[in-house]
Amino acid sequence: MFKTVLIAGVGLIGSSLARVLRREGLAGEIRGAGRSADTLRKAKELGVIDAAFDSVEAGAKDADAVFVCTPVGRIVETVGRAASVMKKGAIVSDVGSVKSTIASVETPDGVFFVPAHPVAGTEKSGPENGFAELFEGRWCILTPTEKTDKGATAVIRRVWEKAGMRVEEMSPERHDRVMALMSHLPHLIAYTIVGTAADLEEQTRNDVLKYAAGGFRDFTRIAGSDPVMWRDIFLNNTDAVLDGLQRFTEDLTVLQRAIRRKDGAALQEWFTRTRDIRRRIVEVRQDTPESEKLLLKGKK
Ligand code: NAP
Repeated sequence: MFKTVLIAGVGLIGSSLARVLRREGLAGEIRGAGRSADTLRKAKELGVIDAAFDSVEAGAKDADAVFVCTPVGRIVETVGRAASVMKKGAIVSDVGSVKSTIASVETPDGVFFVPAHPVAGTEKSGPENGFAELFEGRWCILTPTEKTDKGATAVIRRVWEKAGMRVEEMSPERHDRVMALMSHLPHLIAYTIVGTAADLEEQTRNDVLKYAAGGFRDFTRIAGSDPVMWRDIFLNNTDAVLDGLQRFTEDLTVLQRAIRRKDGAALQEWFTRTRDIRRRIVEVRQDTPESEKLLLKGKK
């Protein structure tokens, strides 16, 4: 599909994509560029990339495609730097978890930008934690605008389909609203609850940490996600997250009142409705035992 590809930011997602490109034979040469020489060296040792470049421009110059896999706050700048040196007909894409602030980036004539978000990940970071199967059976959302080239969009769609993803297109605004509720708000709640436990008086805190199990343990896994990545997500998806948070706070107050009034019927009705939602998610294969196994495999 491509003679030369540059991955800008060879972390969890960038290295997993590089592994897919290798497995599927989609690229002749896979290059990496990034912030630290250490990460690039590691990626090269792992066989994830063939060559490391100390600047995005140097690696992007004669590349057929560039995938920007840095934290969200660096994507617009990195796409611009790559596109400024890329040849005509080349494609630059990204994997950022927020799309409204990224999708309308302008590129020079003949260099095509396709905004994308493979909705798959773990709480781990870095090239050593990437694995090609990460994307299998998950959704990839493309958010082309009316200026996005249709041919380039079709090429990026094929890359993610080769990764085993189901690909959908939607507006960047709709993407951000969905992600605010589906991913960003749950992370915020996990960050809050683990922070709350850490601020408890010493004896209780030690007990909570010592006996950590069930719900709290799951929250600590999510709250262990990369701080820079999540800082950037909240700084870039502000409106949708605040809107979701407002609704969440209202619903929390409803449950708070039910508990205070010892309204068992209301609580049971609420929990029954959420259990049905869980069943439906399993049915549409977003959280199957198979996908759990794949995630565990990647964590080893
Ligand atoms: P990661 O493992 O931390 O990798 C980030 C990469 O970006 C690293 O190679 C890092 O280089 C580089 N980087 C960090 N700061 C930089 C800067 N200021 N300038 C240039 N490069 C920089 O993170 P990730 O999980 O792969 O996430 C990457 C992107 O994928 C983010 O935009 C995120 O929103 C998106 N995404 C993540 C997930 C997920 O669940 N993890 C899922 C879907 C999409 P160094 O190692 O040298 O610092």
